[in-house]
Amino acid sequence: SDCIELRRLYRYFGKTKAVHDISFSVPRGHVFGYIGPNGAGKTTSMRILSTLDLPSYGDAFVDGFSVVNDPELVRRRLGFMPDSFGTYRDVNCEEYLDFFARAYGLVGRERTQRLKWVLEFTGTVGMKDKPIRGLSKGMKQRLCLGRALVHDPAVMILDEPAAGLDPRARIQLRKMIRELADRGKTILISSHILTELAEMCDAVGIIEQGQLLATGSVDEIQLQR
Ligand code: ADP
Ligand code: ADP
Repeated sequence: SDCIELRRLYRYFGKTKAVHDISFSVPRGHVFGYIGPNGAGKTTSMRILSTLDLPSYGDAFVDGFSVVNDPELVRRRLGFMPDSFGTYRDVNCEEYLDFFARAYGLVGRERTQRLKWVLEFTGTVGMKDKPIRGLSKGMKQRLCLGRALVHDPAVMILDEPAAGLDPRARIQLRKMIRELADRGKTILISSHILTELAEMCDAVGIIEQGQLLATGSVDEIQLQR
């Protein structure tokens, strides 16, 4: 069954057609790459999927639940990794993750276990007492991924997670994404560079000026271009 679905999604800001009639779906356990230049509409559609914004027309579904009608149920099933880290300056890595664990309503033993798992999975155990301020870009990205994972969501929405990473950090990110997909998570991941995501995606969609130009396997898309 499809785990992420955009169904004739529109989002206009005044005259700007940020998202214009986009439809696609991602089956459970697949990684879908959302590729397009700056301003194409990637963040806007990801924010709608994450219930941070609403469509002008159309709808989107996470695990079968509508972002318009059932935003609470969507939120519980979804982890969002935004393209900027935000400002949480005076906390250490563990406190940062714990903040999100509590925000998702995790308590007691479950909260402790999740935190432990996330620190281990993202390779940040050794950093847990270090302040966020002063972390490398790669470490911040791991922590951001951890934050999106802390409530063990079925669906993950990752906005430009590979941007600005060095090749080594990029390989580690790819490994984590593939492992999450192999564990059954459904992942939507964006980039403005097709090759940046090519090896980790089961399928990709090309978006430009709010419209989906093509979807298919990486090979199919590369042949078309
Ligand atoms: P991408 O993530 O692909 O870079 P965005 O979704 O951020 O693209 O932006 C798509 C278009 O929508 C751009 O023209 C952008 O300027 C516009 N846009 C995004 N958010 C807003 C907003 N809150 N108000 C007005 N225009 C916006
Ligand atoms: P392994 O593959 O190492 O055997 P398991 O899937 O059996 O891992 O899980 C081991 C522990 O990690 C359990 O406590 C489980 O709740 C936790 N865990 C597994 N996957 C996740 C996840 N995606 N997010 C948070 N905790 C997880």
